Amino acid sequence: MSEVIAVMNQKGGCGKTTTVVNTATSLAVMGKSVLVVDMDPQANATTSFGIDKNELENTIYDAIIGDINVKKATIPTFIKNLFIIPSNISLSGAGVELSQKENYHIILKETLNDVMPLFDYIFIDLPPSLGVLTVNALVASDSVLIPIQAEYYALEGVADLINTIKLVEQRLKSPTPIKGILLTLYDKRTRLSRDVHKELKNYFGKSNLLFKTIIPRNIRLAEAPSFGKPCLIYDPESTGTKAYLKLAKEILERDGSD
Ligand code: ADP
Ligand code: MG
Repeated sequence: MSEVIAVMNQKGGCGKTTTVVNTATSLAVMGKSVLVVDMDPQANATTSFGIDKNELENTIYDAIIGDINVKKATIPTFIKNLFIIPSNISLSGAGVELSQKENYHIILKETLNDVMPLFDYIFIDLPPSLGVLTVNALVASDSVLIPIQAEYYALEGVADLINTIKLVEQRLKSPTPIKGILLTLYDKRTRLSRDVHKELKNYFGKSNLLFKTIIPRNIRLAEAPSFGKPCLIYDPESTGTKAYLKLAKEILERDGSD
């Protein structure tokens, strides 16, 4: 059975793409078969795997708007067990095109149906908005992982995000539980980071939604994409690599399949 996880936060720069790329890589290295679906027209996840977004024959756009089968857009990365449906700028018009279609919110779900049985985990990377693509991702997903950056106003916008999740649940009868809240870009030397951690524990600790794993601010995580590599390949010993391996383990534990 595959599990589809949307990594979502309408705030830019909170570590969504970094989380998708490095968690997916960690799970693949642990032997799971994993698919990354790049739903961001900026295509940062695509380029993080060293794929040239301007040289793509088929993308997620062709799979959801065009009439190619999704399998044609699903390509291997250089990492064993890890595949990607890449994206590029063509996806930027997809929101408008999708909203003109009947039942537009279920199109991604239907698109992914054909590849679903092939993977243990499918991670959806999203742009920083709560638009049509996000609604499609919610309907297509089994759960949502929310990265939150350790900074001022960290929780701002999270209420809107949770509202969107609830609206989709009520209106489209498609509940998407929160898989976990992930504290990212954490700097243990700063009081601010510690304060945000405390705040998150207050909000989400009791419901067990907060992942125990914390992702530290680590320069290697920021450097790796410019080499077209996930951090685990770029620098296996870095604290960033270790943190995402730990997160992958925690996800497996939560799923009871470690
Ligand atoms: P989003 O997808 O939410 O916009 P990204 O994952 O692209 O966020 O991260 C934003 C920027 O911060 C990128 O340049 C990325 O390399 C960097 N970054 C993300 N997480 C970390 C981290 N834990 N430590 C250092 N840099 C990070
Ligand atoms: Mg991103």
